[in-house]
Amino acid sequence: MDLLVTIKPYISGIIEVSLIWFIVYKTLDFLNKTKAKAIINGILVFILIGFVSKFFKLEVISWFFDVIINYSVLILILIFREEIRDILLHLGSFRVLSKRKLKTKQYAHELKELIEAINIMSEEKIGALIVLERRVPLDVYIGTGIQFNTSISKDRLIGIFNKNSSFHDGAVIIRGLKIVAVGCVLPIGPLPPDLPNDRISKRLGTRHRAGYGISRETDAISIIVSEETGKISLSMDFYFNYDVDLEVVEDVIKDYFEQFSR
Ligand code: ATP
Ligand code: MG
Repeated sequence: MDLLVTIKPYISGIIEVSLIWFIVYKTLDFLNKTKAKAIINGILVFILIGFVSKFFKLEVISWFFDVIINYSVLILILIFREEIRDILLHLGSFRVLSKRKLKTKQYAHELKELIEAINIMSEEKIGALIVLERRVPLDVYIGTGIQFNTSISKDRLIGIFNKNSSFHDGAVIIRGLKIVAVGCVLPIGPLPPDLPNDRISKRLGTRHRAGYGISRETDAISIIVSEETGKISLSMDFYFNYDVDLEVVEDVIKDYFEQFSR
């Protein structure tokens, strides 16, 4: 009985710490899995030191612990500034009210041409990187390539990415129903997280990382066809999908054309 009375305050302490740990873990996990794990370990060690120092009345460490706790929100904002920026950027690009939606027949031709081009490039292993501009203007990247204002056609796209073409390096940027630039240089991102296995991460070179990079830096969608494997990858919002089915790409492009309102 006495033991129960003695340990009672500790039990509520343990429950509280577990609860805080759970909330912090879920929040950090949502922000960034890899970073979260390292930070969770740090926080756990920190809480442990805090408890021990309070228990043994180690004043200097307790004071230090309190200071850090007081600034913890600021510290977390600093650590997760990139992720917070990403969330705000993507939140800002959600459409609440679309000004004008394209009807199926208005984009049916472009959709068909684009999908056929991707399919053929995948089958023939022609490396390609196609970027669809959404709300965030891509003018900076358009400026790194050769500007066009031409319609989307299967032959044109295959022609651009053909090894013999002088524009085959770099990315094609699409704005709505038009190709607006070719040969564009995109920011190289890190390796996408959560890839199914190491073999795939070794396969991802600069083309895939540029596709992932632009969809991390902006809200653009990128479609990548691998020259080595012919596999199609899709990068948008917060995810990168290696080896996606053409139907998935078609749905995404369809949705893109439908939502396009500039
Ligand atoms: P693949 O599976 O097609 O080989 P990969 O991801 O392994 O693709 P690389 O083999 O390095 O990539 O592909 C090189 C090509 O990627 C370049 O020829 C160029 O067309 C394109 N590329 C490389 N860097 C960039 C960049 N920063 N922006 C746009 N395109 C790029
Ligand atoms: Mg390669």
